[in-house]
Amino acid sequence: MDKIAIFPGSFDPYTMGHHDIVLRSLDLFDQVIIGVGYNSTKKNRYFDIDLMVEKIEGVYRAIPRVKVIVYNELTSTLAKKHDAGFLIRGLRNTTDFEYENTISQMNRYLNDDLETVFLITSPQYASISSTIIREVHRYGGNVSEFLPYDI
Ligand code: ADP
Repeated sequence: MDKIAIFPGSFDPYTMGHHDIVLRSLDLFDQVIIGVGYNSTKKNRYFDIDLMVEKIEGVYRAIPRVKVIVYNELTSTLAKKHDAGFLIRGLRNTTDFEYENTISQMNRYLNDDLETVFLITSPQYASISSTIIREVHRYGGNVSEFLPYDI
């Protein structure tokens, strides 16, 4: 049976840090589904969701084992729909850990067939966050080095 994993996030924008997590996940899973979601606490996106999906699809055009979808529901429900047994999340620091720990406990409660797999950030991407990239972009800074596509 294929090992299917979902990598959910806001991806506002999708960064080299996210890209690194997906490339490493391809060594662990048969299929990786990138789920671009509307996070209830981050309702107003900076980058348009359709644009972001188009950009992410472009990055993985030559890798059919990666799919990109938009979703607006519980991640645990999304996983069931796609027969995904795994959720992938990235960890940069203890702040990420505290947040991810509670989410993963809840996801496990909601869907006990779902295992969250955490990948520790690669050191060169440890300080990249979507938040900081949005801020730099907003004020006209060059962020191209931190994104796996042109924007
Ligand atoms: P969310 O809004 O769900 O936190 P994000 O788009 O901010 O979504 O991040 C999605 C996932 O990617 C999270 O698990 C986050 O910790 C992880 N992530 C973000 N940036 C990096 C990075 N530079 N290295 C590794 N993981 C990262």
